[in-house]
Amino acid sequence: CGIVGYIGEQDSKEILLRGLEKLEYRGYDSAGIAVLNENGVHVFKEKGRIADLREVVNPDVEASVGIGHTRWATHGAPSRVNAHPHQSASGRFTLVHNGVIENYAILKREYLQDVELKSDTDTEVIVQLVEKFVNSGLDVEEAFRQTLMLLKGSYAIALIDSENKDVIYVAKNKSPLLVGLGDGFNVVASDAMAMLQVTNQYVELMDKEMVMVTKNSVTIKKLDGNIIDRDPYTAELDA
Ligand code: GLU
Repeated sequence: CGIVGYIGEQDSKEILLRGLEKLEYRGYDSAGIAVLNENGVHVFKEKGRIADLREVVNPDVEASVGIGHTRWATHGAPSRVNAHPHQSASGRFTLVHNGVIENYAILKREYLQDVELKSDTDTEVIVQLVEKFVNSGLDVEEAFRQTLMLLKGSYAIALIDSENKDVIYVAKNKSPLLVGLGDGFNVVASDAMAMLQVTNQYVELMDKEMVMVTKNSVTIKKLDGNIIDRDPYTAELDA
């Protein structure tokens, strides 16, 4: 299991797919990507390997923002429906997640009684909670923060908002996740190997931080709102 993300100027599909191929060693039973352009969000997912995902990705869709996932199922059988990315009820928010949300059943009962979940995963509650909080009047960053405060368990998360192509929201707890820095673009990946094709400059993320990644900035905040300054390091690996 692993996640990737890209935000920049280039078409993101191939960068995401190559990144996922590098992450397949972490486990795979299904995979997916979501890319965002001026026409909205486009989700492609499939059971099986990245090679199977490639078959269903529409080559004509170009988008310079995207997230991707290779799944090792913990909750819900391996299937196309349970493959990530998962979307909120309205389709506005799209999310990938590695890890296990231990309290997903409680969260579902307490906050999502009126939402019809589309998958059997623990993951889907995260994206539905973000939309729920946005619908109750919070801005997206605050809705993301409130959601993270409720989660128990492990996660590496990347979230996109179809109403805002300028940012990928990212967070981690007990699952690995890095932000990679480029010239005019930035990436997100479970490990540096996945994105060595585009950069060797990485910023480490710590548990219980949330990160707003744009094509030319990375803002790391603690869940209490404090901004963290952290220097990148150079990954000394062979691609
Ligand atoms: N628990 C999630 C699921 O079963 C994520 C699994 C993973 O880390 O790939 O869909």
